[in-house]
Amino acid sequence: MSSPTAPTDLSRLLVVLDYDGTVTDREYNVLAFQKLTGDAWRVFEDAARRGEISHAECIDREVGLITTPKQELIAANADDARLARGFSEFLEALLTDGARVAVVSAGFREAIEQLWRREKLPPVELFASEIVPRDGVAGPPWTVAFDRRFGACPTCGPGACKTGVLRRLRGTGDTVAVFGDGVADLCLAREADIVFARGALTELCEREGIAYHRLSDYRRALAQLTDRMTPQTATP
Ligand SMILES: [Zn+2]
Repeated sequence: MSSPTAPTDLSRLLVVLDYDGTVTDREYNVLAFQKLTGDAWRVFEDAARRGEISHAECIDREVGLITTPKQELIAANADDARLARGFSEFLEALLTDGARVAVVSAGFREAIEQLWRREKLPPVELFASEIVPRDGVAGPPWTVAFDRRFGACPTCGPGACKTGVLRRLRGTGDTVAVFGDGVADLCLAREADIVFARGALTELCEREGIAYHRLSDYRRALAQLTDRMTPQTATP
């Protein structure tokens, strides 16, 4: 019998998190590109916004502008990165209560792992990208290799859709919560049971009639998620 003080069981909850601008308080990818390429990255960002190129092609073109060793891009990405408000507590609580948590990002694995270590966050499953030499030998120039478990869709392109990971992780009867901020998270939002959105994803959800919670503080999101996962019992 459940009581108000019973621990919450989140073992049927799968939480899929975007990284840049979702786990972090702002988008550090574009700040890194600005630092290393000046305004050159903007042309690709604008083309992606107009739907002329996919988000995957956008990040690949931006990385293609980098002429320094890749560690400079990783450092530019990770050194200044800060967590969104309440994220540490949110993650600890989810894992303590048995939820499965995955970070699914077109961003760079090494930068994400660096922030995880610095903030002493508990481990989660990570599906991200690698910066690799375009010629396969030595860079620059660099290109982006997404995690092989990403899927394909007409919008994201081959090997660039985050739903590939979601479908692989989702178990029968799971409730899937998706947290995101951009166009690369829209396909995830379409398949989620609960969506937490900020930034451009809020407008995309509205355009497609996808219900979402506005993500501002992770402590609030945790309360909303826990509420949703707690069976409603009549109080005596
Ligand atoms: Zn997609």
